[in-house]
Amino acid sequence: MAQSVKGMRDLFGAELRWFQHIEETARRVFGRHGYGEIRTPILEELDVFKRSVGESSDIVNKEMYQFTDKGGRDVVMRPENTAGVVRAAIQHKLLNANDPVLFYYIGQQFRYERMQAGRYRQFWQIGAESFGVASPESEAESLLLLHSFLTELGLKSLVFSINSVGTPESRPAFHAAFRAFFAQRADRFCEDCHRRIESNPLRVLDCKNEQCQAALEGHPVITDHLDEASAKHHARLKSLLTELDIPFVENPRLVRGLDYYTRTAFEVLSSDLGAQSALLGGGRYDGLFKQLGGPEVPGFGWAIGLDRLAMVLQQVRGDAPFTPPALLIPLGERAATEALKLARTLWDTGVTLQLETRGGALKKAMASANRLGIQTVLILGDGELDSGMITVKHMATGEQESWPLGEVAERLADRG
Ligand code: AMP
Repeated sequence: MAQSVKGMRDLFGAELRWFQHIEETARRVFGRHGYGEIRTPILEELDVFKRSVGESSDIVNKEMYQFTDKGGRDVVMRPENTAGVVRAAIQHKLLNANDPVLFYYIGQQFRYERMQAGRYRQFWQIGAESFGVASPESEAESLLLLHSFLTELGLKSLVFSINSVGTPESRPAFHAAFRAFFAQRADRFCEDCHRRIESNPLRVLDCKNEQCQAALEGHPVITDHLDEASAKHHARLKSLLTELDIPFVENPRLVRGLDYYTRTAFEVLSSDLGAQSALLGGGRYDGLFKQLGGPEVPGFGWAIGLDRLAMVLQQVRGDAPFTPPALLIPLGERAATEALKLARTLWDTGVTLQLETRGGALKKAMASANRLGIQTVLILGDGELDSGMITVKHMATGEQESWPLGEVAERLADRG
């Protein structure tokens, strides 16, 4: 029997219903804030990710679905979407007028990751990108959008964890202090951290190894080494979040380790998630446009994993909101014709209805209704056609009644 590729799964039923509910909520909230959707191709040139995500990252080094196409191009199935959106904005000159550009995306990403719970090789992300504005106010706007999105999905106890990573120009001062600190206790850090301290010291703060995290106790804090403008920016964002009643904590170990990241880095934690609580991350990436060959344009954005969000919502809220359709069962050929006509009228007025088209025994159709979780069954036979009254069975109670044929649409709508 053919199976789906390892790490890639089919989505249907209750799980997909959470995906759909999340997507509808996202589109509503993004739309309200003036964000427009963008859809970029799944395949991008290898160079897009080498120049953005970076050759030293695990994603580019180990995790990309990368191949040469029949025309000899080196292509990649996108591991994330920001690089593609920035590439598109440059290619279509969307920023040449210097107007702010607000985009959101919903799409599949691909990473050849080691398998673990909640991690897939094809997964989904929803992201927001705000291009062309460097102000702390634009960050507050994006975080408010995120806050509304998660709150409307029913997640409570959200905490924004924030930090500032300064600018590439001001960072060397921090690097020097941090390297001196590292040198004093170098033997307590893992091999990877020894590599990171040379190539990208910020990444040491991010190490998942518990011993390294313990060795970091008392480390120099990057927000103590910010240039004046970055410090002002950071203070302003914090005061805006306070004004807006968005609860936040400062986390000096929260970093985005690539050079094009500047100033704000953040994550959202939810106590609904328990210990492993980071739900998403984002930050400011003022150097990314240049890195991809574009003009100098500031950018701020975040991406949330849809698979993970759906899992959390299932845990916290149970099944996604869903009303199964009513089922219309005709008995006999004459009724089958009339049922098609009645169903058409009902569908055209917006009623959600499934039509039994197999013919045959009522018992078999009722058993299907039970399995499908259908709550209202309409039965149309010769008797009903002659009397103009349809038989209605409420599955939960077993109760049965008759409705005038002309009132079916209205009465089904009342059902909620
Ligand atoms: P990243 O692009 O690595 O910053 O990830 C952003 C979000 O995408 C994470 O917080 C996860 O929710 C989600 N994510 C990343 N990788 C995977 C994966 N392999 N499977 C499922 N979700 C993922």
